Amino acid sequence: MTTPTHPLAMQHVAKAYRSGDTVVQALDDVSLTVAPGEFIAVTGPSGSGKSTLLHCASGLDTCDSGSILLGGTDITRLSDRKLTLLRRSATGFIFQAYNLMKTKTARENIVYPPRLQKRRPDKDWLAQVVRTLGIEDLLDRYPNQLSGGQQQRVAVARSMMARPQILFADEPTGALDSASSDQLLDLFRWCTRQLGVTVLMVTHDRAAAARADRVIEMMDGRVRRELRPETAGAVAR
Ligand code: ADP
Repeated sequence: MTTPTHPLAMQHVAKAYRSGDTVVQALDDVSLTVAPGEFIAVTGPSGSGKSTLLHCASGLDTCDSGSILLGGTDITRLSDRKLTLLRRSATGFIFQAYNLMKTKTARENIVYPPRLQKRRPDKDWLAQVVRTLGIEDLLDRYPNQLSGGQQQRVAVARSMMARPQILFADEPTGALDSASSDQLLDLFRWCTRQLGVTVLMVTHDRAAAARADRVIEMMDGRVRRELRPETAGAVAR
């Protein structure tokens, strides 16, 4: 059963890539329902369809068939314009490489999305987010004056400004040392508990997956199985 309150509900989603005579079924009948405030990790070997799942679920890419409900709206039926508006208001995206603007301070980076939409950033929300992420003292620094872990926390703050229902994270710990990685995963958990946001994270990192509430393992474009987080750290990649 899915309800409009589910941040994400995918039903029988398929996507193939074609080049010449070759067809790769990157997603093959994938169904996945995510509850509000859940922290989900998607794992699996390289080529198993993790990135395709993330890109389709977040509306960055289109699927061939099936339905994808973001906050109850089927994004497979939206015009490009409506999809862009929904993505801006309901989703956030975290990349492995942080993607901060080098010539702007941490604060300017964080408030960039609302400013881009000519909206005044919500000061109370900004204060709550930077406090939750522990970056109050870093706001006037430029990205090259921040460690990798600090830059990633600024990127998380930026993605939180629109008060998204769901945060999509693509290998967010991939460039971090293990201490910064631990800290970021704690923050994801904290954001789900304190700010009610859902996190869907693609990761190769078994230790990172083990910190989630649910772990989905992909194989050949399908959900192979759902693992308990405490066992995810022990299974083969
Ligand atoms: P993962 O993130 O688990 O490494 P991907 O979702 O990137 O897996 O890829 C799933 C399958 O789809 C792989 O076989 C990959 O080679 C193929 N694939 C991904 N993107 C493209 C593309 N743009 N064109 C052709 N094949 C692609």
